[in-house]
Amino acid sequence: MQANRTDIRSLSIENLCSTLSKSNFPAYRSKQIKNWARKIDVKSFEQMSNLPKDLVSYLETNFSLNKSKIISHQKSSDNTVKYAIQLYDGLVIESVLIPSNDRLTACVSSQVGCSLDCSFCATSLLKRMRNLEYYEIFDQIMLLNKEANKIFDSSITNIVFMGMGEPLLNYKNVIESINQITSNIGIGISNRKITLSTSGISKMIKKMADDNVKFNLAVSLHSALEKTRNNIMPFSKSFPLKDLIESLDYWYKKTKRKITFEYLIWKEINDDFDHINALVKICKRIPSKVNLIEYNSTDNPKFESANAKWLNNYLNVLKDNKIPVSVRKSRGKDIDAACGQLANKH
Ligand code: SAH
Repeated sequence: MQANRTDIRSLSIENLCSTLSKSNFPAYRSKQIKNWARKIDVKSFEQMSNLPKDLVSYLETNFSLNKSKIISHQKSSDNTVKYAIQLYDGLVIESVLIPSNDRLTACVSSQVGCSLDCSFCATSLLKRMRNLEYYEIFDQIMLLNKEANKIFDSSITNIVFMGMGEPLLNYKNVIESINQITSNIGIGISNRKITLSTSGISKMIKKMADDNVKFNLAVSLHSALEKTRNNIMPFSKSFPLKDLIESLDYWYKKTKRKITFEYLIWKEINDDFDHINALVKICKRIPSKVNLIEYNSTDNPKFESANAKWLNNYLNVLKDNKIPVSVRKSRGKDIDAACGQLANKH
């Protein structure tokens, strides 16, 4: 482990150029080093076979190359595969490959653990250990893509930031990873095939709109009534619904792209018409669609899936109001790979 040295990939190309020239290495080497460093199978400077020996030993003395690696995987009966990926400092994140008829979706993590406290989510119990570096998110997707080709004979077709962590609390690194993964140094996937899911950090939603990002936005709403939301997602006391709605208005005005509201229905929490009507009201204000998600049980006894009739009530009222709605079936439940179950239990 080379944890205390600067990772070569955290230097910009310009920075690397000037650092190298101070030690009398030619500038063009920086591009070669960068190209090598991002290759999934290159784990040491020694493998950079067209670099001279003195440059290799200079790099070894002064920098690290912090590559992540898959340490285990589990396959679900529905073919979903969950991976445990170990980072350079020994911490572990989880990521999931989800095959379906016409897609192969990678569900990726943005933080080790999570600083938010959604009480229905297993990841929240881990707390936030640290943010992922941009290159750790990049490596994670490249590793998954390699696995995808090996196991499913297909590259990843979609990416969702719905694994561990809150992506908008690691904004800079998430954006840099998306920039790289969508380019020809990554897998060249289109931004339209990427969805970032946030629990609703309003200030950062506005920033994303200002930054003119091209990927899709999903918001974990789960309740359009402040009191309930504050109860099940206590952090949202600092992020009032009013501000969230305003930031989503702003997002739509700037991007002209619909928002997806992710929504779980629990017994005696939001299984009533007050909650349904509040959701409809928000959806009428913000051009959006609703994704009703099946609850995956965690160890918290307060949460239990609502009776199936409430799923129908939600569906009917949303449809009556011409609000697009879909139901997301849970995947990978038997291996704790489904939404809200990533908790490093491997
Ligand atoms: N922090 C981000 C992304 C990670 S969670 C966010 O909150 O959006 C990805 C999705 O899984 C969110 O919609 C989240 O609310 C949902 N989720 C969390 N726990 C769940 C559970 N136990 N069952 C089903 N979905 C869950």
